[in-house]
Amino acid sequence: MQDALKNLIGLSRAELALELEAIGEEPFRARQLWHWMYWRGETDFARMTTLAKGLRERLAAHFRIARPAIKIEQTSADRTRKWLLRFEDGNEAETVFIPEDDRGALCISSQVGCTLTCKFCHTGTQKLVRNLTAAEIVGQMMVARDSYGEWPAPKSERMLSNIVMMGMGEPLFNFDNVAKALAIVMDGEGLSVSKRKITLSTAGVVPMIPRVGAELGVNLAVSLHAVRDELRDILVPINKKYPIAELMKACRDYPGANNARRITFEYVMLKDVNDSPSDAHELVRLVRGIPAKVNLIPFNAWPRAPYQCSTTEAIDRFQKIVNDAGYSAPVRTPRGRDIMAACGQLRSESVRLGRAAKATAETPAAG
Ligand code: SAH
Repeated sequence: MQDALKNLIGLSRAELALELEAIGEEPFRARQLWHWMYWRGETDFARMTTLAKGLRERLAAHFRIARPAIKIEQTSADRTRKWLLRFEDGNEAETVFIPEDDRGALCISSQVGCTLTCKFCHTGTQKLVRNLTAAEIVGQMMVARDSYGEWPAPKSERMLSNIVMMGMGEPLFNFDNVAKALAIVMDGEGLSVSKRKITLSTAGVVPMIPRVGAELGVNLAVSLHAVRDELRDILVPINKKYPIAELMKACRDYPGANNARRITFEYVMLKDVNDSPSDAHELVRLVRGIPAKVNLIPFNAWPRAPYQCSTTEAIDRFQKIVNDAGYSAPVRTPRGRDIMAACGQLRSESVRLGRAAKATAETPAAG
């Protein structure tokens, strides 16, 4: 049966070599296989023409190269694209691509659901949670590459140029799988996305932050959202475990942060909750001395959300205070709201279709 075959996606180079050895092949063939899988995006061993025919047949007898199944693919009026993916155990998660003119960021999930229960985030209302495997994390990138036909594409011509670990879940609660997946994604003979084009966002799992810098070397984003512990305890409950002072210390010590590589502080704008001038001044005080930029995120609503988005005046006022203190603070344009693909709207327990959305494909399980 097809599904009994081992999926090669998500294995490290060393593990791939071991698999080849286990079926009596030369481990150095792993390099050629890697090229076909991650540079060319090939899923059919028979088409791997640089491998001897016998090897292709033996590979096909033992292994498969599988993506997560696309349950729904939707494209927003603003061209943002969202995939609801179904994994082999039936669990689901969402991946979003946010295109700019000639490039774009793929927003990848690290967990099915999320345990953080941040009060303003839709994903936090989902009950079922498990970590995604490295194969499932890399698989999200492969699905997007398939969808945009970017196998193989020179770096300068790729729409899928950047990755943000900002989808469902807390990546630092699933560090090992995220690290393994990112090593595959960054490999220069494969998917080849440079660490400078990858950003990992955390709600503040403080003990893991140094490892992001030291072991992954990617850009760090921190979901701050409140500048006083009393409020942050409510909005981002992990704050009770790792309060603001500890979080800021970890940011201050973040390996590799400098003026060319700033830490992004994400700040969701909630009407009359965290958007006062005094909040803005306190934010500036907190980040002082850290190579930082601030990303102001207009709150994206979801069914029965307990908050509203700040007014434009409040956002402008907040932004000006941060700018005047010398920090860049762009307001993140909401993307894909019509298909519930914007920040904090992802949820995979039930399927909702936004009014302006159109389902562009509905394919049965392919795995
Ligand atoms: N758990 C990680 C990764 C998720 S990133 C983290 O918290 O950083 C998703 C980003 O969207 C976070 O900054 C999150 O706080 C923000 N977000 C969540 N709900 C939102 C909403 N309703 N509107 C706008 N941004 C939201």
